[in-house]
Amino acid sequence: MNRHERRILVTGGFGFIGSHLVEQLLQDGESPVHVVDDLSSSPINIDRYTAQVPHKECLTWDICTVKEYFQRSNIPAYHEVFHLANVVGPVGVLKHAGDIVRRTVEDTYAISDFVASAGGRLCDVSTSEVYGGGRDGYCSEKDSMIISPKTSVRLEYAVAKLACEIALMNQTISKNLHAVVIRPFNVAGPRQSSRGGFVLPRFIAQALKEEEITVYGDGQMVRAFTHVKDVADGIIRALRQGGSGQVYNIGNPANKTNILHLAQAVCRLSGTGSKIIFVDPKKLWGPLFEEANDKYPDADRASNELGWQPRYDLETTIRETLQYIRDGRDA
Ligand code: UDP
Repeated sequence: MNRHERRILVTGGFGFIGSHLVEQLLQDGESPVHVVDDLSSSPINIDRYTAQVPHKECLTWDICTVKEYFQRSNIPAYHEVFHLANVVGPVGVLKHAGDIVRRTVEDTYAISDFVASAGGRLCDVSTSEVYGGGRDGYCSEKDSMIISPKTSVRLEYAVAKLACEIALMNQTISKNLHAVVIRPFNVAGPRQSSRGGFVLPRFIAQALKEEEITVYGDGQMVRAFTHVKDVADGIIRALRQGGSGQVYNIGNPANKTNILHLAQAVCRLSGTGSKIIFVDPKKLWGPLFEEANDKYPDADRASNELGWQPRYDLETTIRETLQYIRDGRDA
């Protein structure tokens, strides 16, 4: 396929990850990119964003839900469909308790039915939450997944995403759908809002206001923070180079840290006088809040099969996020 023949759809294209993905997709200036986003958790100002993206003449959008979009009768065929739209954030998901499975599954089926009949390739952006903890936090695509006996909103989200992954993988056989799944690990960087509850922008916002930095529990939780631009690159590679029916971890194992160390790094890099305190997150967010298991990726498959190499270390990721929030753009 010539590049100029490539029509692209991004659901959730005005979200944190989606907005970086769209910028990378627009780089070549030859592929029309259409965004579907209901702006429910968009961190951007659309007028400002769409005015500054490369090749802005190639970008079009509809502000509506995935469901509303796919109910239309006049949708053009797309060569590439990136599905990112979903509820997000450890705090953001809480208000959708009990409805996450329905929304996630309905949206994914609407998209996969469309791609299966219209042709093209689908990349489903799933979550590393599906692992449920892996082997002491080490998560490989080859491992079994463990589902907790304890019901939580987080579990509803993880199970909904996992159900969609499995349905899509089966459809690559039963319906000849071309689909890949990626599982991002703790995506971080500019445009991530502190409002969703994500840890890095929260710590930075607290540090810049000289407020106490709220480390949950004992702060020994393990995560591997992955720069959003690396994640966007991994998503594009997975769709274009990945094998249909394949699942890829997109996460930077070199950025593995525990949360107390992250808080200390934020203090150091921001030069704040903030004090680190240890708090019970249920006291802040209520009984529905649940801590995730430790998680960091085996990224060998993405590296070997897609040539994906993350370029941003943890310090750079913190510095760039700090600069973004310091500039007042996390409004
Ligand atoms: N966390 C924290 N203080 C905060 C926000 C988050 O200690 O103010 C912790 C949280 O408990 C988790 C880690 O930081 O262990 C990453 O949290 P985030 O919500 O960003 O990602 P997830 O837990 O979904 O991987």
